[in-house]
Order: sequence, then structure tokens, then C-alpha cells
Amino acid sequence: MPVAVGAGVLVDADHLVDQIWHFYMHKRPAAILALHGWEWLAALGIVSAVLEFPWWMVAATFGYGSHVITDQIFNGVHRWGYSIAFRVHHRFRVERFSDRWRLKRPVDALINELRVGRRTPQ
Ligand SMILES: [Zn+2]
Repeated sequence: MPVAVGAGVLVDADHLVDQIWHFYMHKRPAAILALHGWEWLAALGIVSAVLEFPWWMVAATFGYGSHVITDQIFNGVHRWGYSIAFRVHHRFRVERFSDRWRLKRPVDALINELRVGRRTPQ
């Protein structure tokens, strides 16, 4: 369980790179998202098979796959937006990744995430 949760949560660390790229290096917003990719999921699946499905590899693959699948469903990105090849082909342009995607400053994103736990039903 900790392996699955770790693999499923640490994926979002790549947003920090995009935020630094834009807000601190003053570059055009980019959807680099180096850890989000169907290619990584395929690689995890292949490595799992080669290693004959050890429990920790299956857990990492399941955690990672759950993350990318839910991101694909709920983030409103292009159907191939979570393909690294697609993003490279479109030079990481945010507008090709999603027309709704907005980069938030790291502090604002953190505050927003903390509010999620405190929301009360209306
Ligand atoms: Zn994500």
C-alpha cells in the first residue's frame, strides 16, 4: 500500500519543475510534466512483466496508473495530453495540452491543495 500511494502521489512533483520554469525562470508556460506519461505506465508494465510481477512493482504500477488515469479523466486535457511523445511533438505548449490548464504559483497551488481538505458541503 505505501508503494502504491507513493508512486501515485510523487508523480505530481513534476509540476514544481513547470512552475519554476515559468514563474522563476520567466519562460513561456509549458506542460513539461516529465513524470506524467502513458509511456511511463507502459514501461512500468513491461518491467513488471520482465521481473515476473513482484508485489512492489505491481503496486507501483497500480499507483502510478491510477494517478494518470484519474488525471486524464478529470483534468480536461487533450486525449493524448498525457503522452510524452504528444507533448514533445507540440513543444510542450500548454494550449495544445489543454485549453483549461492554468499554472499556479507554487505557494498558491499549495494553499489551494490545503483548502481541499477543509471544504464543507453547502
Ligand atoms: Zn497528476
